[in-house]
Amino acid sequence: KRHEKYNLYDIINEVKLLLETQAIMKSILVRTEFESSYLEVVCDKTKIKQVFINLVKNAIEAMEKGNITIKVSSCPNHISITVEDNGPGISKERLNRIGEPFYSTKEKGTGLGLLTSYKIIENHNGTISVDSVVGKGTTFLITLPLEVEG
Ligand code: ADP
Ligand code: MG
Repeated sequence: KRHEKYNLYDIINEVKLLLETQAIMKSILVRTEFESSYLEVVCDKTKIKQVFINLVKNAIEAMEKGNITIKVSSCPNHISITVEDNGPGISKERLNRIGEPFYSTKEKGTGLGLLTSYKIIENHNGTISVDSVVGKGTTFLITLPLEVEG
């Protein structure tokens, strides 16, 4: 595991660049809002990048058109990142199950994206939670500590 300091500005922009074509083809706009362009976290960059790829991909796959907004801001001890979409949302019943292994509502889904993402954030001593309103959209909130101990 390589835990070094990385700037979230770079990580998020790389993810945006990677998935933007896919989004544009569905008339989905990916927007970013950074409180600062210099918000560093100690992390395994490949893994943290994978988490944001998973979340943005899920949002793209859930929507016909719309917006995905990634917001990054800092608190005294952690950085918080939200990935928000204005897609169909997730019902209460489904919300309880989306982190389960192999739970997918997609024909060709693996149902492993969120489980993997939860594990990665947990391994970074962070938190991940989801808030969703049917017909309005879904927001994933991630917090990552500024310093990883151990
Ligand atoms: P997969 O993408 O292979 O289905 P995931 O673990 O990434 O597996 O997601 C599990 C399920 O959670 C998806 O099948 C979908 O039903 C739901 N989901 C995840 N993100 C969103 C979202 N942004 N909007 C609506 N549903 C979502
Ligand atoms: Mg997925």
